Amino acid sequence: MKLKDPKNPSGPVKIGKYKVWIERDLCIGAATCLAIAPRAYKLDKDAKAIFLDSCDNESIETIVDSARGCPTAAIIIEDENDKRIYPK
Ligand code: SF4
Repeated sequence: MKLKDPKNPSGPVKIGKYKVWIERDLCIGAATCLAIAPRAYKLDKDAKAIFLDSCDNESIETIVDSARGCPTAAIIIEDENDKRIYPK
C-alpha cells in the first residue's frame, strides 16, 4: 500500500484543505482510526499510525470521526488557517 508521504509517514499531510498528523508519542497503536477510516491509515512496524495515499478518498468528516475515536487524541487536524479542528 502506497504511503501519502513516505518522508513524513505520520504527517503532517494535506487531506482536502486540512492539515492532519499523528502525534507519534501519543499513538499507542490502538487501531481505532484504521477501523473508522481504513483508506486513511495503517500501522507501521512500531505500531504507530501512518497515512496511506488513499487517505484522500476518505471524507474529512470520516477523518474527524477517526480523530474522535482515537483513545489518546493522537490525531490532530487543522484547517487552512492553522485553526485547530480537533482536538479542540
Ligand atoms: S486510534 Fe490513535 S492510538 Fe490508535 S492507532 Fe490510531 S492514532 Fe494511534
